Amino acid sequence: MARIGFVGLGRMGAPMARNLVKAGHQVVVFDIVQAAVDSVVAAGATAAFSSAAAAQDADVVITMLPAGEHVRDAWLGQGGLSKAARVDALLMDCSTIDVATAREVAAASGRPFLDAPVSGGVMGAEAGTLTFMVGGEPAAVERARPILEAMGKTIVHCGDAGAGQVAKLCNNMMLAATMAVTSEAFVMAEKLGLSAQALYDVCSKSTAMSWALNTYCPVPGPAPGSPANRDYAPGFTAALMRKDLGLAQQAAKDAGVATPVGALALSLYDRFVDGGGGAKDFSALITMIREGKSS
Ligand code: NAD
Repeated sequence: MARIGFVGLGRMGAPMARNLVKAGHQVVVFDIVQAAVDSVVAAGATAAFSSAAAAQDADVVITMLPAGEHVRDAWLGQGGLSKAARVDALLMDCSTIDVATAREVAAASGRPFLDAPVSGGVMGAEAGTLTFMVGGEPAAVERARPILEAMGKTIVHCGDAGAGQVAKLCNNMMLAATMAVTSEAFVMAEKLGLSAQALYDVCSKSTAMSWALNTYCPVPGPAPGSPANRDYAPGFTAALMRKDLGLAQQAAKDAGVATPVGALALSLYDRFVDGGGGAKDFSALITMIREGKSS
């Protein structure tokens, strides 16, 4: 079993760290919020007094932080993890961040470093069923596999450093645009007298089927587990979706690719979050569409 330093114990990081403990690993944790640390220590982890202390003597060091600036600072800043970790330690970041920072941190760390963002949300983190999209050297990915398998079900090696983040941003751009147009269709059906259930029954079994429709349906009723059934409590917040759409637009621009549908999805989420919807699940976008505020 490995000694694992884990930094960033938020809504995703805490259950991921708990699953590593459950799998029998020795997990040493740090977060700037003491309550977050306490919740994981209660499950059997050990608290460190700094991120560098969590990394010391660890076989594997993992970060799960909000955004690129936090990740760069945690790894490369003063007292950063890159210096604190053992030279033979396996390093990985599971946050969703911009591709450029992921590549910069990997290159600057000077040893095997994986970008391994996840899909599956808080429910997936708790159940240990996350999908990991991994960028980095094949040998490092194989070394990481048993660790990742304690937190997830599907592990895909996407390519070199940064490739995991590219996959994650493409996934979320497709998801956001699909959710937006699915929401438009439900509002259109409502106004034209077609019930939500009838629309669901047809489209969830026809060529319009998608995860956004079938599993995460933006109206209450047809998919009982979706956030619409609990007044859009997240799930995955609209604020995080806006963040990821912004990162996707930046990556598309850097690559010289036109993504007008992704840009439109970002502008819709900008409007929704600026209007106070940021803490709601991203499927709550339908409420703005229903109010006629999306045009
Ligand atoms: P969160 O805000 O709940 O957690 C982030 C944690 O990092 C917080 O506990 C915070 O105190 C801690 N932190 C910040 N700076 C720190 C530092 N310098 N040192 C130590 N700890 C620090 O966020 P989350 O929902 O857990 O998401 C984490 C990452 O995972 C994000 O990049 C997000 O985009 C991605 N993600 C989230 C979800 C989701 O459904 N929430 C799903 C997939 C991916």
